Amino acid sequence: MFSFLQTLRIFAALSGLFLISNMPMMAQQAGHWYKGNLHTHSFWSDGDDFPEMIMHWYKSHGYHFVALSDHNILAQGTKWVKLWQEEDLAVFEKCLQKFGERWVEYLRNGDTITVRLKTYNQYRPAFEEAGKFMILQSEEITDRFEGKPIHINATNVQELIPPQGGSSVTEVMQRNIDAVWEQRARSGQPMFPHINHPNFGWAITAEDLFPLQRERFFEVYNGHPAVHNQGDAQHSSTETMWDEVLKHYLLNGKPPMWGLAVDDSHNYRETGSHLSNPGRGWVMVYAHELKPASVVRALEAGDFYSSTGVTLSRIRRNQKRYRIWVAAREGVNYTIQFIGLGPDGTPQVLAEVQDIKATYKIKGNEGFVRAKIISDKPKQNPIWEGEVEVAWTQPVFLRE
Ligand SMILES: [Zn+2]
Ligand SMILES: [Zn+2]
Repeated sequence: MFSFLQTLRIFAALSGLFLISNMPMMAQQAGHWYKGNLHTHSFWSDGDDFPEMIMHWYKSHGYHFVALSDHNILAQGTKWVKLWQEEDLAVFEKCLQKFGERWVEYLRNGDTITVRLKTYNQYRPAFEEAGKFMILQSEEITDRFEGKPIHINATNVQELIPPQGGSSVTEVMQRNIDAVWEQRARSGQPMFPHINHPNFGWAITAEDLFPLQRERFFEVYNGHPAVHNQGDAQHSSTETMWDEVLKHYLLNGKPPMWGLAVDDSHNYRETGSHLSNPGRGWVMVYAHELKPASVVRALEAGDFYSSTGVTLSRIRRNQKRYRIWVAAREGVNYTIQFIGLGPDGTPQVLAEVQDIKATYKIKGNEGFVRAKIISDKPKQNPIWEGEVEVAWTQPVFLRE
């Protein structure tokens, strides 16, 4: 006979096995959904507003975290911006109204106003609230190869990483990725690189991504109107690239690459399809708590989905089933697609359901399975005509 304690241990072991074999997407510990944007610009580089105004925008629009990722600069040290054009002065007046004379540090000289930008250490405590809002330091490492823009975000970076250069598109990416991982190892801080807008300037192809090591994230959706998420007659869409990379990584024993949706916001003054406005693309992360380590861990585990408007209530993905529950909106129809490798080995839609929940039973020969949830709700302030709200969940790799 088993003692009570032994029985308990056996039960714990069995339930442990059960959890492992089912590998629920959600952590076993109770978690929360946190909404975040990992790609944002401000006056620190080429954004058109003050960091504190941008943080206020995100916080007041239901986001839980933001990474301000200016080009080749961290919000540290001293930087003054000179404003004299009418639109710039209007932005200054708004900031002054919102934060007051005691907060804004500026000099007036005739018609010109010079403003000292707030550093990360200054604006962060003005917005952060435990469990409610978090600001991650970030940098868009802005590199190039033979005129092709190669941009890589370093989320939760602690020290500036200058563009590392290299002798090919792949090498430039790899050297910058390595620099982030080197800093992570040295600092002990959780941080990760992600490849930005591969189709911007038609710079990065799926083949360029194939040889990369320790590359886990790329932007399947970027809210900037110049980045060609959808590709064109000669170039693959970012989503097609994603599937090609997934197939390649799968066959080469690498872990999956996750797909992010981000704003890449630069324009906060006016709204329009030709502008990179905030609020277009984001991630919903299922994490234990709203802290950098927990959020980075959840992102790295693929415990998140990317969205341009669709909200999900649950995701379960394991080697047997892939299940989706949509937090449906009244009057909106949803199509849930499961995507993976077909019998001929090419990426394709394996199953499609018009419903607010769906289960895909995995056969085992699909290589990978991911889901895309497409609504018929037109996107507010779209980048392209006819854009609708969608969500992408992260793939499972099926390996024998
Ligand atoms: Zn960029
Ligand atoms: Zn950017």
